[in-house]
Amino acid sequence: MRAEATRLLDLEADLRRAILADAFEPWFQPIVDLATGAVVGHEALLRWNHDLQGPLPPAEFIGVGEDSGLIEQVDWLVYRRAFEWMTRHREGYVSINVSPRHFHSENFADRLLQMLDDSGAEPSRLRIEITEVALLDDAPRALRMLRTLRERGIYALLDDFGTGFSALSYLHRFPIHALKIDQSFVAGLGDDLHPESLALVRAILALAGTLGIDTIGEGVETEAQAAILRQLGCTMGQGFLFGRPMPAPAADRRGVA
Ligand code: C2E
Ligand code: MG
Ligand code: MG
Repeated sequence: MRAEATRLLDLEADLRRAILADAFEPWFQPIVDLATGAVVGHEALLRWNHDLQGPLPPAEFIGVGEDSGLIEQVDWLVYRRAFEWMTRHREGYVSINVSPRHFHSENFADRLLQMLDDSGAEPSRLRIEITEVALLDDAPRALRMLRTLRERGIYALLDDFGTGFSALSYLHRFPIHALKIDQSFVAGLGDDLHPESLALVRAILALAGTLGIDTIGEGVETEAQAAILRQLGCTMGQGFLFGRPMPAPAADRRGVA
């Protein structure tokens, strides 16, 4: 326990140094239209360019980042880079992941819009990925925030759908443009078919279809999974089958050695 506590403290100190050094960047993974295969957008996925171990995926440090609150600062560094990328890549949208912690701060939407304006990126090409936890805490504030962003053309996507409470009332109460069906269900679709996954995905797609909400299947790794999603009416897909998260080309990266 003591060793683990020390490790976490070291990691937190390391994270603070990395924030000062601006050592984070987004990698981009394509999101495709399942009917045509066309790339419609990219998700920006955080990587830490750690001196010794980097690039590190979020699983290695996001827990400490969330607990210490440092994730908010990391997110802002990543968003700035993602917006810069948008000004160079003029096609499709970019979705950024928003930590539920940002929903505790009243000025998140204004700060995001200001940063977007400063970068020159088009707000209607930005999407935010949020999780249900973000909506739970202070629903009126979350609603204000999502509405402010929506007024400027920024759609909200509900990430990891199906893993949380998946309360249907959210879909109705909040301006949600699309659901991202969690990869754990998509994994149960292909050749190794799990009937529960199929039933769940079918139900999610029926619900989304009725409400006029778009759907993105996450973690699509095989043709078989893509085919089932397409058949069931899922409109978009994301996963290794279509492309892995990749760093921006070197010419586009600022301050990354
Ligand atoms: P997420 O938003 O659900 O992102 C999808 C994750 O699935 C990514 O992991 C991606 O690399 C991975 N993935 C994509 N396609 C496949 C596939 O076909 N198979 C498998 N097995 N995995 C696939 P990643 O990049 O490690 O990110 C993990 C999580 O960290 C994200 O889950 C998101 O919740 C969080 N995250 C990522 N970027 C940020 C960020 O900038 N800020 C915050 N606060 N959280 C972030
Ligand atoms: Mg996401
Ligand atoms: Mg997800």
